[in-house]
Amino acid sequence: DMAVLIEQAVPLSEWPAEFFQVSDNIQRPGLLLQQAIAPGSGLTRALARGLKETLTEIEKSGLRGRGGAGFSTAMKWRFCAEAQSDRRYVVCNADEGEPGTFKDRVLLNSYADQVFEGMTLCAALIGAEQGYLYLRGEYRHLEDKLQKILQQRRDDGLLGQNILGQELNFDIEICMGAGAYICGEESALIESLEGKCGIPRNRPPYPVTQGYLHKPTVVNNVETFMAAAAIAVNGGDWFKGAGTERSAGSKILSISGDCAKPGIYEYPFGVAIKQILSDCGAVDVQGVQVGGPSGSFISDQELERQLAFEDLATGGSFIVFNNSRHVLDVVKNFTHFFAHESCGFCTPCRVGTSLLKKQLDKIVDGHGSAGDVAALEELCQLVKNYSHCGLGQTAANPVLTTLQRYPELYQRQLKKISYEPGFDLDGALE
Ligand code: NAD
Ligand code: SF4
Repeated sequence: DMAVLIEQAVPLSEWPAEFFQVSDNIQRPGLLLQQAIAPGSGLTRALARGLKETLTEIEKSGLRGRGGAGFSTAMKWRFCAEAQSDRRYVVCNADEGEPGTFKDRVLLNSYADQVFEGMTLCAALIGAEQGYLYLRGEYRHLEDKLQKILQQRRDDGLLGQNILGQELNFDIEICMGAGAYICGEESALIESLEGKCGIPRNRPPYPVTQGYLHKPTVVNNVETFMAAAAIAVNGGDWFKGAGTERSAGSKILSISGDCAKPGIYEYPFGVAIKQILSDCGAVDVQGVQVGGPSGSFISDQELERQLAFEDLATGGSFIVFNNSRHVLDVVKNFTHFFAHESCGFCTPCRVGTSLLKKQLDKIVDGHGSAGDVAALEELCQLVKNYSHCGLGQTAANPVLTTLQRYPELYQRQLKKISYEPGFDLDGALE
């Protein structure tokens, strides 16, 4: 099969030009995007301030990981710096795969230098000499451009040996993903970087102590590195000036779905969902998926809620659904996605996500009994509780959250069953 695939693959040079003309469509630039920093300015400022003091500044800023989970960036960097080892690594997770998320593509297309600056800053602070940008396979069209920016930084003394004339050596290599969603999970990404199959490791130990080649490694999202570079220039107070007490700064969102102006938006944390919907021109909103399929589907009754780690967190995905959409179609789409992307390593997820897909299809297609809904819920709990990694542990979320919020939608599907008196319903449904 592989041989056939390789033979049929179209070389990049022959891909249609339209494929590469992806609009960035930045609609509402805020804190970060409006104040992009000049190449080298973050490092220069950090060296002038002192590296230890700069880490304290990042701590003061309250920056939390922008991939979705929101772990303290300063704490992560400190843990890595303090881990006993002869070598450390910096990895930028650009394997943006959360459905509905495309902000890292835009950041790398328009602000890559600042992302590399953030990685170099991290390297200086933790004592790393090698960094990797793990780029989503579907973003291969960005590779040449990114290589040129890396070369420019080397030519300008911002990468390589003796950065800015200091005893600071660091370089960045680009590593291409190959289309597996699971490789966005940091430990699977590290396995893939090591040339192995992208199977998640047990965590803990976290990458900060045992990451790439089992050496201490910082893995952060594209946006996190970009923010860190900006904080090095503008200071922690500047960053903390926006957002909420527990979610400092701004968040870059990928807005898509039923709205007049889809694109990239940047908001201070704490913004109400209804404000975002009004800005992107969404009308007749039935619900919004915040944080991709593993996140939350919120209904039109919850639009006062806020974008923040303490309320609605997201790696960047914000998908709007209007009243013409059938919620169960969305759930079906996400459930099929997880079954397709399960890496197959552990049985509860490999088998469970396939069974979940089958069971949900049975109900949505109008062939389910009331017992099937109970069985569906039971299966969800099994996949959620016994899977090895985050993919399996969240794969049932679309079903579970909608079962909880919209039980009537599932019940309505069951009513479509027509049967003759005396017909053995249970037997027929097996
Ligand atoms: P997690 O909470 O387990 O970890 C978050 C980060 O903090 C990791 O880098 C981890 O190594 C670190 N960490 C956590 N506890 C630590 C500790 N005690 N010591 C040192 N480091 C520690 O979350 P996760 O499983 O890595 O990621 C889940 C998130 O990813 C979800 O929020 C999900 O929405 C998001 N996600 C994002 C995308 C995307 O494309 N951006 C895709 C899928 C999922
Ligand atoms: Fe792979 Fe799913 Fe198991 Fe994660 S939960 S290791 S994706 S099979």
